[in-house]
Amino acid sequence: MASKSFNAFAMAQAQFDKVAELLGLDPATRDMLRNPMREYHFSLPVRMDDGSFRVFRGYRVQHNDARGPGKGGIRFHPQETVDTVRALSMWMTWKCAVVNIPLGGSKGGVVCDPHHLSMREQENLCRAWVRAVARDVGPVLDVPAPDVMTSSQHMLWMLDEFERIHGGKYPGFITGKPVGMGGSLGRTEATGYGVVFTIREALKELNLRAQDTLASVQGFGNVAQYAIELYRQLGGTVVCVSCWDQEAQEAVSFRNQKGIELDQLRKITDRFGGIDRKKAASLGLEVLPGDVWLEQEVDILIPAALENSITADNVNTISRRVKLIAEGANGPTTPDADHVLKERGVFVIPDFLANAGGVTCSYLEQVQSNMNYFWEKDEVLSKLDVMMTSAFLDVLKVSRNRKLPMRDSAYVIAVERVARACHDRGWV
Ligand code: GLU
Repeated sequence: MASKSFNAFAMAQAQFDKVAELLGLDPATRDMLRNPMREYHFSLPVRMDDGSFRVFRGYRVQHNDARGPGKGGIRFHPQETVDTVRALSMWMTWKCAVVNIPLGGSKGGVVCDPHHLSMREQENLCRAWVRAVARDVGPVLDVPAPDVMTSSQHMLWMLDEFERIHGGKYPGFITGKPVGMGGSLGRTEATGYGVVFTIREALKELNLRAQDTLASVQGFGNVAQYAIELYRQLGGTVVCVSCWDQEAQEAVSFRNQKGIELDQLRKITDRFGGIDRKKAASLGLEVLPGDVWLEQEVDILIPAALENSITADNVNTISRRVKLIAEGANGPTTPDADHVLKERGVFVIPDFLANAGGVTCSYLEQVQSNMNYFWEKDEVLSKLDVMMTSAFLDVLKVSRNRKLPMRDSAYVIAVERVARACHDRGWV
């Protein structure tokens, strides 16, 4: 999450500017793409369980819709800022473009801490968010989805409010819905599994076998848990995971050199990905305060929490053994840290490629919803695998041909596609 010295939007713009230069984009296209097309800021009055009202700050930012309706999640987080939402909306544009799905980029957020809200208060908040933007979002305009601390239940409340306002059934308004209520099988697993589809391909490139590798993971939310699940199925071993300790207000890491047991850990984890320290210790895990997940002697690092995790301050604590970083989170690596990783020759799978599985499965949810015919889970996941793998291989090809790091290569593909859509529409 953005700290005082770090602004996610400035980082997203700096990444874009670098590629705009590389591509020789004209000034109007640069102006168009380095800022969001539209943004909505609103106050959300919510009736609390004790009868009082509290007013929350909410946002929806639509970065670009040249390739299709805006697409992107809604985050509930106490440190949410409009600049974080702006950055995330921009990254959504590149994410949809790099996997070549016909969608643009948007993002939403509410400044709130769901740890301190009852389910009813969260429902009221979801409905208030939809009332604030009901005329500016929708199946053909901008389609929300889950993100940090929002789930399929939140999506269903939002859908219900949208349908009440518009007087009809509009399952295409939102993705990440519960299965049986217009949701797709595999959507919950999609982001984490997608991260591992890209890891699998990167390991081939690095001539490594998954079963010979160790990994360390930041975060234990939805993305991290399913990434660990599939990575272990491939034969890999996760020796360390971290999470945010809500009570102590600090990061905490859990280590087992022989490999952590995913199912054991899931049983002692709350719905926000918070692992119980005491119970973890009683299971024999080493409990280490702080961000030591980053310093482990492993081959693969998977930052799967929030932005601003690998910075100039801590990048040099990364072990020389690390060969691969797969960014499950959005914006986990700051540009100066990225530079150090490049110098060291670490293979980085950039966020908007590595974690594109979620939105790609959202697209598959839209397709199934439009047909009103839903596939088996295996079918969804195999389509997801094909799309993620082919996006990865496209980026790898550019990386080889143009001798660019994977991040710049992914940007080249995505920005070119979006710029072309803007030109072809006659916008710039
Ligand atoms: N919130 C997810 C992301 O950052 C998924 C977005 C979507 O499914 O629209 O990619």
